[in-house]
Amino acid sequence: MKSIVIIGSGMGGLTAGNLLAKKGHKVTMFEAQKTPGGYTGGFRHEGFYFESGTLAFESSAQVFRAMKEIGVFDKIEFARQKMHINAGKMNGVCSSYREFKTLAYCSYPGEKEKLDRYFGEADKMIRAMTGMMAPHGVAGFLAFPFHLAGFMYLFRKYSKITVTDFAAACFGEGSALYAHFKGFGYPDMSAALIGPALAAFLDDYWTVKKGFQSWADALADNFRALGGELRLGTPVDKIVTKHRAAAGVEARGEFFPADWVISAADYKKTFLAWLDDRSLLPAEFVKKVSETAVSEGIVTAYLGLSLPPAELGKWLKAPYGSYRDPSSVADFRLGADDPDYFKKAGAGLYSPSLHDASLAPEGKSSLMIQAIAPTHWMNNWGGGDRQKYRELKEGVKRELVAKAAAVIPGLEERIEYSDLATPLTYERFTANTDGATSAWSWNPHNKFYGSPLGVHIGTPIKNLLIGSCWSAQIGGVPSAINAARRCARRIG
Ligand SMILES: Cc1cc2nc3c(=O)[nH]c(=O)nc-3n(C[C@H](O)[C@H](O)[C@H](O)COP(=O)(O)OP(=O)(O)OC[C@H]3O[C@@H](n4cnc5c(N)ncnc54)[C@H](O)[C@@H]3O)c2cc1C
Repeated sequence: MKSIVIIGSGMGGLTAGNLLAKKGHKVTMFEAQKTPGGYTGGFRHEGFYFESGTLAFESSAQVFRAMKEIGVFDKIEFARQKMHINAGKMNGVCSSYREFKTLAYCSYPGEKEKLDRYFGEADKMIRAMTGMMAPHGVAGFLAFPFHLAGFMYLFRKYSKITVTDFAAACFGEGSALYAHFKGFGYPDMSAALIGPALAAFLDDYWTVKKGFQSWADALADNFRALGGELRLGTPVDKIVTKHRAAAGVEARGEFFPADWVISAADYKKTFLAWLDDRSLLPAEFVKKVSETAVSEGIVTAYLGLSLPPAELGKWLKAPYGSYRDPSSVADFRLGADDPDYFKKAGAGLYSPSLHDASLAPEGKSSLMIQAIAPTHWMNNWGGGDRQKYRELKEGVKRELVAKAAAVIPGLEERIEYSDLATPLTYERFTANTDGATSAWSWNPHNKFYGSPLGVHIGTPIKNLLIGSCWSAQIGGVPSAINAARRCARRIG
């Protein structure tokens, strides 16, 4: 039996904790907040339930396998996340990639050739990827090398081109289709991810019917039942090293010794703030950790509405919707200094209570409105001036509500409760640098790891592992879970 300390109880920490406790190790998990879950948590306010940030996840096969291994799969009600695309001419509910393509072709019948060019490449990526991931039977096994070669060819071809450039090449800058497709996924993410991301968001996009917090709670309960110790409201201040190896952590002035330390929280803070002796790190590693860009943050408006779910559902058409006004396009590359950025940006609308009416008081609904935020918008939200910060927050909330009101008539009159989270809020609650939503930057020109596909749990410090989404260039629920499984395997 080894003693293991885990920093953070997001999906990475909770998965690692469960797998290791199940193997009989002595595991102590530290969580800075009073509830577990990190980005896959949620909260209630005045009876309205809201997700803290994450609304869905993809790669369900990997996620479900881990939950079955832990033994909590049957305790969580996973549900498919359908999407209502609402962007000018393109307006319809899609529950698959095929339906999305049909919607695009029907909305722009005169643009068949350009759409063929875009979807033709996306189709090739999806075919190669699915062929690689599901090699059934002898024929599938024999075909695997061909799918792998096809995938690698396409990956290399597009890995250095951004989605914005790819959309410009296919549709021409300034066109309506360019406006639709340039904003797909993360700003300026690699075009090599278009196929995998389309397939993931449309064919394999899942949420939790009773809210993500119910998932985190089920994992936390299971962890405790396996003998694990979960210390909520206890931030780790220091990773303590002895003889150049991790030897435990310090929290609230107390030392907790461990054979292994797993950081399932922010990467930059792990090495630049919590590690007790930075001289153990190679200088070039410190430079890279300090300088590499993180993924963009997000703003979320949380609204409690005096609107019955059935009435809200009439307007939203699906619990999750992507709204974009193609006539006003935000330029993300210039967005950091643009006071009107959020007026022009697209937004996602999500109502947890459309999945389960008990997530809001009877006859009422919860609504979240999200938009990707340029990093350090408006001098990082007012340059530390609290009054300016409040004003910027109010302004952004107004813009987001106005966007949602274009979809839900009379929305303003139905708001009973409202608040806004900015990237600074997310950093305060999860410690993720700049409120990074999905680990490192998705921009192919800002890489931390050599390949965006790998999972990297090792660190320059012996016995210190990364068990969070930061183990991958492209973070997310599946990458946090993958990192956790690898940590459990490495420790044995
Ligand atoms: C708005 C939004 C949308 C997203 N959409 C998707 C999506 O569609 N699909 C997808 O797969 N992923 C999505 N993600 C990303 C996904 O949620 C994260 O990548 C994943 O949940 C991260 O899990 P984690 O365990 O690595 O870290 P986190 O969830 O960040 O958990 C880290 C935990 O560590 C705790 N902590 C931090 N510092 C300390 C300390 N010093 N001591 C103790 N505890 C500490 C934090 O409080 C937190 O609970 C989204 C994220 C956001 C914010």
